[in-house]
Amino acid sequence: MVTVAAAEDLRRIITNWRDAGERVGFVPTMGALHEGHLALVRRARELADRVVVSVFVNPTQFGPDEDFELYPRDANRDAVLLADEGADLLFLPEVATIYPDGAVTRVRLAGPPATGLEAAHRPGHFEGVATVVTLLFEIVRPDLAVFGEKDAQQLAVVRRLVRDLHLPLEIVGHPTVREADGLAMSSRDAYLSPPERRAATVLHRALSAARDAIEGGEREAITVRRRMREILESESLAAIDYADVVDAETFEPVTRIRGRVVLPLAAHIGKTRLIDNIHLEVANATSPSS
Ligand code: AMP
Repeated sequence: MVTVAAAEDLRRIITNWRDAGERVGFVPTMGALHEGHLALVRRARELADRVVVSVFVNPTQFGPDEDFELYPRDANRDAVLLADEGADLLFLPEVATIYPDGAVTRVRLAGPPATGLEAAHRPGHFEGVATVVTLLFEIVRPDLAVFGEKDAQQLAVVRRLVRDLHLPLEIVGHPTVREADGLAMSSRDAYLSPPERRAATVLHRALSAARDAIEGGEREAITVRRRMREILESESLAAIDYADVVDAETFEPVTRIRGRVVLPLAAHIGKTRLIDNIHLEVANATSPSS
């Protein structure tokens, strides 16, 4: 695996691959890699001839009171993990490479799915995500890019962006990788104290209860939201940002549960903000006729 910091070096290597007829898969990350990220790399290896991974803690997607400075960084460890996984190229740019002096251009989605939920709780977040993803796609020019369903609204935003801007690549979603007790793996799990780590399973417990209710026939979103809230509120270390039932494409709240829906949650466990979700497909069954 080669590690490069300059966009021109990356371009030269990738152009050679492309000229040889090889398909390029891309996995953008912010580093502090865990099994969730590595699963995306494995998926990209299955789907493409060459795999490029970026590690870039993107300043524009953090709010002024968020954890940009604190965000865990360990490029050496990340490089070892990626080499073991068979990645071909690690792109490790400086902030000034992605945002050259004087860069003022931003990419902003003007509607759903970039409204509500994360957009409401983290103003400017999706503008930062859309901007960096567009820049990275332009620098790497991959045939496909793999994103985790763990960040479900982000994945919907990226799919919308690629369609709206006619970008010539395929977006592949990958299921959330979890710890044995159900906690969705996240680089931010490293912030949790032992009692907080135990409390953090409440997100998965709330989602499992919601899934059980829907599989048991519940179709009123308001009832499912209430159930998730009850469980989250039963954990004294958790403070809820949102617990919702939304359409899988627009991320707008639904009233009746049918078709493809996402149940997204966000909560603070102590000072650490965690998100999780499940995707469900509910058959549009008509009520049995008498
Ligand atoms: P991040 O480094 O947190 O920005 O995440 C980089 C990519 O890894 C994004 O596409 C995330 O959705 C994905 N990802 C992070 N955690 C997980 C996980 N537990 N399971 C699957 N994908 C994940």
